[in-house]
Amino acid sequence: MKLRCFLFSGITLVLLFVFSCSSPKKDFATMLIYGGTIYTVDANQPMAEAVAIKNNKIVFVGSLKEAEPYKNDKTKLIDLKGKTMTPGLIEGHGHFMGLGYNELNLDLSNTKSYEDIVNAVGERVKTIKPGEWVIGRGWHQSKWDSLPSKMVKGFQTHHKLSAVSPENPVYLSHASGHAGFANAKAMEVAGLHGLAKEGIKSFKVEGGEVILDAFGRPTGIFNERAQSIIYKHIPDKTPESDIEAFELAIKACQKNGITSFHDAGIPKETIALYEKMRQDGKMNTRIYAMLTGWDEALLNEWYLKGPSIDSSHLLTIRSVKLNCDGALGSRGAWLLEPYSDRKDHFGHETLPMEFVEKTALNGLKNGFQVCSHAIGDRANREILDRYESAFKKLPEKALDHRFRIEHAQHLHPEDIPRFAQLKVIPAMQAIHMSSDRPWAIDRLGEKRIKEGAYMWQTLLKTGIPIVNGTDVPVEPINPIASFYASVSRKTLNGTPEGGYEPEQKMTREQALKSYTIDAAYGAFEEAIKGSISVGKLADFTIYNQDLMTVEENKILETKIEMTIFNGTIVYSRAE
Ligand SMILES: [Zn+2]
Repeated sequence: MKLRCFLFSGITLVLLFVFSCSSPKKDFATMLIYGGTIYTVDANQPMAEAVAIKNNKIVFVGSLKEAEPYKNDKTKLIDLKGKTMTPGLIEGHGHFMGLGYNELNLDLSNTKSYEDIVNAVGERVKTIKPGEWVIGRGWHQSKWDSLPSKMVKGFQTHHKLSAVSPENPVYLSHASGHAGFANAKAMEVAGLHGLAKEGIKSFKVEGGEVILDAFGRPTGIFNERAQSIIYKHIPDKTPESDIEAFELAIKACQKNGITSFHDAGIPKETIALYEKMRQDGKMNTRIYAMLTGWDEALLNEWYLKGPSIDSSHLLTIRSVKLNCDGALGSRGAWLLEPYSDRKDHFGHETLPMEFVEKTALNGLKNGFQVCSHAIGDRANREILDRYESAFKKLPEKALDHRFRIEHAQHLHPEDIPRFAQLKVIPAMQAIHMSSDRPWAIDRLGEKRIKEGAYMWQTLLKTGIPIVNGTDVPVEPINPIASFYASVSRKTLNGTPEGGYEPEQKMTREQALKSYTIDAAYGAFEEAIKGSISVGKLADFTIYNQDLMTVEENKILETKIEMTIFNGTIVYSRAE
């Protein structure tokens, strides 16, 4: 017995010796980051002087002195030079391919005149083959510094646009989405060539109008549903355009400091594309994809197959997205009481509520999270009811369900505490408040706005985390704008003074968490990302200024300086 004891401790000693000799070498860092303000979002150590990483994992977080031993001659040193770093930001609800296609199209939202549009199209035409379409969006004549001399019914006419693009059809959507502007080539493709007839003063189609000049010729403007006359000739997406859009979406994420993306509802073809991109080494943003609930066959296929949790943490599919009502703007959001500005109207559900419960049960049985889009208080209540019923039917499967409600914009006060009680996570895009609150009050009236709209702080106080985001391409992917909206509750123009319903503001800490650790929690990923902690993935976002302390009216000036993804610098503003 004594001998065995001796032998055992002898072996232990040898092992200890071998381990202690080899361990420092093993932990040499591939990258050491220091010299700035580092917010870790780790409660055990909220700030750090230095972070050491080895390949794609964090191996040390702490003081610069203690970080020194991790350095060798191969370690890449990143001196922040006073800049600020946080964990890599997580877009908690967006549409990745929508973002990519948006990037593929000409962005005209910053054009200040008709000439600007013509110039932008002219530049694009130089890079493409004759016959290829030029698609753009975002122009708005009321934002122009001056208007062209010739206007018809408040809009410009196509001649200058047609002159710069004689061989390529062009279609440019208005910022509102309610009109579009075509050139002669596009109108020719759509069969409108010989339309001009003297004496014809108007050309109306159901729900829309093709605007004509005094000679009965189309001016290029297509209003509302008349847009489909052109739309239907725009070629469908191709496998090549999909790849191009995917790559542009990755670039847009990297440029905006986004290292992970919750993709809110993708069809079969997109899953195949993502799998290919991952195999080809092009998945340089981590995607947490939700299966689109519109395709029940797809859901059934995945229920059988089970969730796909990627060990390289690049593409994970373990959730289902349901679309349960419309939006407030179009009065499609489903309300308990009628709209304030349309007394007989409640909005409506966009799928049968039985399907929500069926999906919730299938999700619990097969290991899938359910994420349901709900804007109005009725839709939110119905979904909470269906989730609750499913949790009661399968309690042992519902211990860590992490079911979500996407948007959760307008809640009945009685339903607010139910999120925490049922552990249902609200995924709320703060930027929507900033953009929509000025007119949402017309839809809901003051009482409902004050008691139940964009209730961030009330929800957080009940103990449930909020997942933030932008719903890109509905809003630009810019996380700084959503961060600003979260903490100021103002429009991006800085109004109103003090913010809308200021008691609902998030603190900066809460807002940062909603873009990092809390968003990770909303995807079952808080153990691998969302904070700068030893063992987690080396994803970081670096800013030109300290967004946690800078004056509120300076937050929007914050720039993404650098994005580090999986231990590699993927974006640097200087380059
Ligand atoms: Zn969405």
